[in-house]
Amino acid sequence: MKNCLFCKIGAGEIPSNKLYEDDTLLAFYDIDPQAPVHFLVIPKQHIGSAAALTEQDAALVGHVFAVIAELCRKLGVEEGGYRIVTNIGADGGQSVPHLHFHVLAGRSLAWPPG
Ligand code: AMP
Ligand code: ZN
Repeated sequence: MKNCLFCKIGAGEIPSNKLYEDDTLLAFYDIDPQAPVHFLVIPKQHIGSAAALTEQDAALVGHVFAVIAELCRKLGVEEGGYRIVTNIGADGGQSVPHLHFHVLAGRSLAWPPG
């Protein structure tokens, strides 16, 4: 999608600190980390948020979670634990309107969120 920041990052038009990439998705470190480990996973195709997902996206979403689990194993945060978050819309705190999953790790995270 034109003028979408994460479409441009997914296409390599805007640089990112990449952790993982394949045909369908990209994982890269968040520019404003909220934990010692904070990366984002995005589909390369434009999906506005998790609210736009359908049954057709089942394989993509499964792939996202499998890649996150593998990356967290590689980063050594599996044992300590981590959090996967996807914000939706204004009240959900979404600032970039392209589906992304935050992965936060490396410290004890509070619950409930603010
Ligand atoms: P959200 O507020 O849930 O939409 O999350 C958007 C996230 O994208 C925030 O955590 C930002 O810090 C992060 N972000 C924005 N621009 C960039 C960028 N160019 N590279 C990496 N992360 C970014
Ligand atoms: Zn996009």
